[in-house]
Order: sequence, then structure tokens, then C-alpha cells
Amino acid sequence: MAAPGPAVGIDLGTTYSCVGVFQHGKVEIIANDQGNRTTPSFVAFTDTERLIGDAAKNQVAMNPTNTVFDAKRLIGRNFDDRDVQSDMRLWPFTVIKDGKKPKIQVEYKGETKKFFAEEISSMVLTKMKETAEAYLGKEVSKAVVTVPAYFNDLQRRATKDAGVIAGLQVLRIINEPTAAAVAYGLDKKVGQERNVLIFDLGGGTFDVSVLTIEEGIFEVKSTAGNTHLGGEDFDNKMVEHFISEFERKHKKNIQSNKRAVRRLRTACERAKRVLSSSPQASIEIDSLYEGIDFYTSLTRARFEELCGSLFRQTQDPVTKALRDADFDKSKIHEVVLVGGSTRIPKIQKILQDMFSGRELNKSINPDEAVAYGAAAQAAFLSGDKSDEVQDLLLLDVAPLSLGIETAGGVMNNVIGRNTTIPARKECTLTTNVDNLQSVLIQVFEGERAMVADNHSLGNYNLTGIPPAPRGVPQIDVIFDIDANGILDVSAEDTSRGKQNKIFITYDTGRLSREEIERMVSEAEKYKKEDEVQKQRIGAKNALESYAYDMKSTMEDDKIKEKVSEEDRKTVIDKCAEAVDWLHNNQTAEKDEFENHQKELEQACQPIITRLYQAGGAPEEGMPGGMPGGMPGGMPGGGMLGGFPGAGGSGGAPYGQSSGGGPTIEEVD
Ligand code: ADP
Ligand code: MG
Repeated sequence: MAAPGPAVGIDLGTTYSCVGVFQHGKVEIIANDQGNRTTPSFVAFTDTERLIGDAAKNQVAMNPTNTVFDAKRLIGRNFDDRDVQSDMRLWPFTVIKDGKKPKIQVEYKGETKKFFAEEISSMVLTKMKETAEAYLGKEVSKAVVTVPAYFNDLQRRATKDAGVIAGLQVLRIINEPTAAAVAYGLDKKVGQERNVLIFDLGGGTFDVSVLTIEEGIFEVKSTAGNTHLGGEDFDNKMVEHFISEFERKHKKNIQSNKRAVRRLRTACERAKRVLSSSPQASIEIDSLYEGIDFYTSLTRARFEELCGSLFRQTQDPVTKALRDADFDKSKIHEVVLVGGSTRIPKIQKILQDMFSGRELNKSINPDEAVAYGAAAQAAFLSGDKSDEVQDLLLLDVAPLSLGIETAGGVMNNVIGRNTTIPARKECTLTTNVDNLQSVLIQVFEGERAMVADNHSLGNYNLTGIPPAPRGVPQIDVIFDIDANGILDVSAEDTSRGKQNKIFITYDTGRLSREEIERMVSEAEKYKKEDEVQKQRIGAKNALESYAYDMKSTMEDDKIKEKVSEEDRKTVIDKCAEAVDWLHNNQTAEKDEFENHQKELEQACQPIITRLYQAGGAPEEGMPGGMPGGMPGGMPGGGMLGGFPGAGGSGGAPYGQSSGGGPTIEEVD
């Protein structure tokens, strides 16, 4: 892929991701190889390959322990984080502790592999990058990536690292609700000032932002949210409900059976979607556990009761965002819904009631708005001069106060919540012991008075302070938050007129440069392996379809008359032989498939040639006489178990295989 393509916008979601590009004066949302405009943020590892997106999600019931999702819930968090601990209990894959950080452990090609959340997210980003490349026919190396507005410094940094590992230059990390506001603003061509409240409830996170939009300027006034509230939590409630129902009915607890729980969860998510449009949904899972079928149903009313307390948790951030923006509800011109979970009627009702029954704005696509805005921002940042984006200015804010610990464990705010970013603030520290040469500063985020109640972002060790009596050194600590919302801490000693260099080492749970470099090269290695695998599957599928096509050609009544019985038998036998061999050698290498195909072609070719000469050229759609003309290098994606050819698929013996193609899901 030679020509460099435009920068894209990527919505890296907890459950679904989406990519868009700004071209020819408008944003296009790009469909993946399955034709879907959003891609599950799933990565699966098997004995033979790595699958990303739909292909990974489709095989989850077969391979629950090696199918990873929800990486966004882990990214930038410590292993001991309460949310990580509670999520772990529900995940079918294994999470282990590596230093402070969590790592996901899977079996891949017969080996145990461990990945940081950044690496899993990078794989999803790679898939989005490739989706865009396939569409544009150009290499994509630059992207704007979105994060929840409530993501902290570590989570943003980790997301940026995921981009680097995926081989992307991350032009900017922007907030999801802000991106959605851009989608709304561009769509509505907002001219005069409008105040909007973006309500973004997705699979894993909830964000509220209040913005003022005027002439291409999007100024965030306040933001609030919950990094741990979304559709998956509703799914969990349903799963719990049905586990106890199953226990009541059958006196058996399915909890420890990961496959059963996964199948139940898939069915619940589907039922939940149904409940957004119907008053009742049924669940039918054959042989869920120990051969017992589970047929049941759930009403919308019961679902609303199960999730009632979670639904109500969406109210607080709305109130808080309005208060922080210093806006009365009546000053909000438009309440805009974003995120898949805003399709739930009860969620809409609760929100609508908060705004005295006002109509909510559903004009933008809740699944695509974030990628849409990110794509517009990507175009702006790469200097696109189109009218739509050239004046686009996003002014975002820091979601939480940042400060340092001072005497007695008191939080000393350096940057207040909802400060417009980029921002630069200083505070001056001194020593409380003579000749102290190093100081440890601990950085926290949060709104509480004591650091113990806030969230630690890490420790920064300042060294190289010239020896002096206590109280004499004057150390200016500088907090810099860039436009990505990423914090940089620096310090200088200004006590002696000239500036002394203070060195900072940190321990914040970030990846080091070496670690990132290692991951970049590993990502490239995995990509190559995927490529080899794709070609292998391609060669296998080519042989399989050639054999079936040849066989069906020979079985065609019109052809039968023109070929001798002996020739027909030769071809059919050879094809059967090849199919037999295939059946027993599913894991053969690319070369072997190709060699078998060549052999088969050599046997069939003279006969096909004779057929042509006899004026019996196969009709269109018949593969006869096209050695190697089958889709040899076709990527695995999009093939169903290896039957791309039209011809004689007479019964598909190999359902299991793969190449990233869709498989039929268990639960239905
Ligand atoms: P994220 O950005 O967090 O990945 P999305 O905005 O893509 O999330 O929303 C995905 C969530 O929306 C999933 O939990 C999904 O179950 C839920 N969802 C999608 N459609 C519906 C629907 N019709 N009714 C209820 N929930 C839905
Ligand atoms: Mg989202």
C-alpha cells in the first residue's frame, strides 16, 4: 500500500468500535469486512490464529477463556483497583497481576501468552486501521482516537500507547461526548450560540457533557460521568437474574461453567435489545447446562425493575454537569442522545422527566456519532480546508481536579475540575528537613479534601535539589495538561536565582518506552502471523472450491454429454481425493494446499481443454479452464467455512474452520 491516506477518526468503544473518515466534504463511516459499521471490540486467540472483531465475537461461546473483550475497562487501571477486581469475577478470561498492572492471560497456538490491556486495545485499533485502509485503498497512519470524558491521565496515556503499538500516530485524544457534539453541530449547522447536553450511555461507560456551540467552536462547560456504567452492567443484572431462575427451576448452579454463562450473556444482550422495542422478550437456549434446555422470558417491566437502581444512577452526573456549568435546565437548548444504551425507553423516560418532559434529540446516529466527530477533528488537525471543518475548534476540560498531597494527607488542588485544557499551573514547594536532596510528590485526582479519599495517579520523585537548610529551596512544580488531557509534571528549583535542573522519575503504572517498543515489534510479528494465516486459509479455500467446482462442472447435465465417461471419472475421483486429503489436513501449510491444487489442476486441465475444443466451454460462473483462477490470496474474512465458490457446494462437510469468517452462533 503505497499512497498515504487521510487521517481517520476512531471511536474505540468498550463493546463496539467505529471508524470514520472525512472526504469530499463529508464524513463517511466505514463498514468492516463483514459489512458492519461498528466492530465488536473483541480479540480471540485459538490454536491456529488470532481473530479480531466480528470473527472473534462470533466464536466466543466455543472459546470463552481465550476471547478477550472489555479491555477498555482495564486500560490505565491498577490490578488492585476495585472495579478491576469486581469485573474480573465476571470475565471468562483470566487476568493476572504483573507489577501493579493487570495482564490478560490466554492460550494462543498452544502457548500461554500475557497481554496488557494496551496491547488488546491496539489489536482492536489495528482492525479499525485495516478497515479504513481496505476502504480507502491507502495506508492509514494517523488517527484521532476518542476516550470517555471521564478518563484520567493514565487511561488517556494508555489509550495513546495502544495507538502507538498499533502503528498509528495519534493526532489527538478527544472526549467522546465532545466528538458527538461535533457530529450534532455539523449536522445541524449550528450558527448562533446553542447550549447542548450530550448524554452518552454505551456498553461500559457513561458520560455527560454540557457544551456551548457557536460558529464551529465547541466549548465544553462541564463534564461528569461514570467510567463504569453501561449496557454490560444491565446484561450482568439479567445474567444474575436468570442464573437464580435456573437454580430455582433445576436446582443447579451454572455459575462456574464459563461456556454456559457466556451463552446466557449473549442471549441476555439480545433480549435486552428486543425489550427496547417490545414489551416482552424470550430466551431459548438449548442444552444450556448438563443437557437442560433453558426456555424463559422477561418483560420490559421486570427488566426495568432489575436495572432500576443502575438506570437511576444516570441522573446524578446530569445534575452535576448542569451545576458545574452553572446552567439551569431551561438554558439547555438540546439534550442529545448518544451510545447504544440510550435506546432503552426507561433511560429516555428518566432523562426526559429530568427536563420536564422535553423531547430528546435523537437526530444523530447513537452508534456512529463519536467516530463521526473524531473523523471531522482528524481532518481539521491534518489541515483540511473544507468549509465544514476548517474552523472547528474544540475546547475541552479536565474532568477531575488534580493535586498533590501536602502535610497531613491534605489534597492541595493544582488544577481544578472543569478547567479548560490545555492548562498549565504551578505550585511552590519547599523542604521541611535540612539538606534534603529529594522530594517525593504524590499526584492525586478527585474532589475530596483528603488524598486518601481520592485516586492516586502516581508518585513523582524530584531529585537533584541542592543541599540547603530547611525551608530555603523553592521548588516550582508545574502541572501541564495538554490538549489530549494528558498530564506532564515538571519541576524547577528557583531559590538561587538561576534554575537548577530537577530530575523527575515516576512510578505511575505507565508503560515505559522500552515496553512500548517491545510491544510495537510484537504487534508487527502478530500481524505477520495473521497474514500468513490468511494466506494459508486462502490457499485452503482455493483448493477446496476448485475441487468442488470441478466436480460440479462434471456433474452438469449439459457437460456430461460432451465429456467421455472416463474423463469424467478421472476428474471426479481426483476431486474426491483432494477433498479427502483436505478433510484430514485442515492445518496444512499454504504450500501444501497450493501443491495439491497444482496437482489437481494438472489432472483436470487436459480434460477441460478437450471440453473447450469440443465446443463445450462451460458457461459463465463455471470455473473450468481457469487454473489458479480461484481467489488464491483472498483474505479469510468473509468466507463461510471455506466455500467461496459458487459451483457444487453439495453439502458442506467442513463447518468448523475459519479464517475469520462468520460462524453460526450457538445461541439463537
Ligand atoms: P461503547 O461505546 O461503550 O462500546 P455503544 O455506544 O456502542 O457502547 O453501545 C453498546 C451498548 O449498547 C451495548 O451494551 C449494547 O447492548 C447496547 N445496545 C445497543 N442497542 C441497544 C438497544 N436497542 N437496546 C438496548 N441496548 C442496546
Ligand atoms: Mg461509545
